[in-house]
Amino acid sequence: MASLSLQHVTKVYPNGFEAVKDFNLDIEDKEFIIFVGPSGCGKSTTLRMIAGLEDISSGTLKIGDRVVNDVEPKDRDIAMVFQNYALYPHMTVYDNMAFGLKLRKVPKQEIDKMVREAAKILDLEKLLDRKPKALSGGQRQRVAMGRAIVRNPKVFLMDEPLSNLDAKLRVQMRTEIAKLHQRLGTTIIYVTHDQTEAMTLGTRIVVMKDGVVQQVDTPQNLYDKPGNLFVAGFMGSPQMNFLDADVEVNGDKACLKIAGQSIELPPAKAKKLIEGGYGGKKVTFGIRPEDVDDSEMVVSTSKAVFESTINVYELLGAEVYLYFDLAEFPITARVDSRTTARPGDKVKFAFDVEKIHIFDKETEKTIT
Ligand code: ATP
Repeated sequence: MASLSLQHVTKVYPNGFEAVKDFNLDIEDKEFIIFVGPSGCGKSTTLRMIAGLEDISSGTLKIGDRVVNDVEPKDRDIAMVFQNYALYPHMTVYDNMAFGLKLRKVPKQEIDKMVREAAKILDLEKLLDRKPKALSGGQRQRVAMGRAIVRNPKVFLMDEPLSNLDAKLRVQMRTEIAKLHQRLGTTIIYVTHDQTEAMTLGTRIVVMKDGVVQQVDTPQNLYDKPGNLFVAGFMGSPQMNFLDADVEVNGDKACLKIAGQSIELPPAKAKKLIEGGYGGKKVTFGIRPEDVDDSEMVVSTSKAVFESTINVYELLGAEVYLYFDLAEFPITARVDSRTTARPGDKVKFAFDVEKIHIFDKETEKTIT
């Protein structure tokens, strides 16, 4: 059993700074949990408290059924992989992986078996005699993983393990880590500020900001149903477009007035605004770049069409990003690469009204 539970966990550093505030999370056995958020939001601090490298100021941390607040890091049955790998430069790959086991006085034969097994899983068998300086970044990262695997921990903690690798290797190692998770079936908690890693690896993602958990959900739900403006803006690249809008209610219908134009909302969305008493109020309107389309077919059938002049055209191979302004708000559209739109062109765009997000201007919480 490698479930974890954090209840009302708080971290106040000696200088009085509250880095983590009332963190609550139950992690099930075999989950791949991602902590994501901007720099300084408290991801590493939380991970380090789980590892036992930082004291917990208040709250309870359980691994399985055992409260481990005061248990030494080495007795917590966890293994941590850091971004700088921390390999011993004078030792071979084999010895780097065997080191922790030797310290724990594991019999030599057993160590050999465990190291060779891990080397096989990580495709390091041919590199066992090399020293770290004779390895590539990705190979070093695999050795660091190997050192964690041989300990056969119940929980893996990984703090931005791929941040020192180049873009191509990152993608490769990301796949490796996903495979490793399937193969080992252990619980993994993984810190990153890369939201592609978060989306592709996590079974659930914890989004943090200023030491506070904003939302815990599956990658798909976080993307489709962000709970507030921050999560909506943080998850997704290019990020969601935001504009100010005025709500106009008429009977059981509701419209959003954006850039001098009214768009009628689908009944379910209208209902939420009417029930919430938003008639006559200002809200924040959000739409993802892929839900803004310039194709003639979509524009000709849509009821939410706007016109603007293209500022920037970016070709990314299969798709194109078009940048323009609507009223004073910058908008990005992610469209098919066959678009003929170019900078300076006046172009018609359609918003997919089924896909729009609406947020309360004051609380920044999602209305619909
Ligand atoms: P990054 O993505 O940049 O690594 P993070 O989300 O992991 O950031 P933490 O390293 O957990 O953030 O830090 C959270 C906050 O706590 C930051 O504002 C940081 O400056 C502060 N902090 C970290 N260590 C200490 C310390 N020893 N004393 C005081 N404040 C600290």
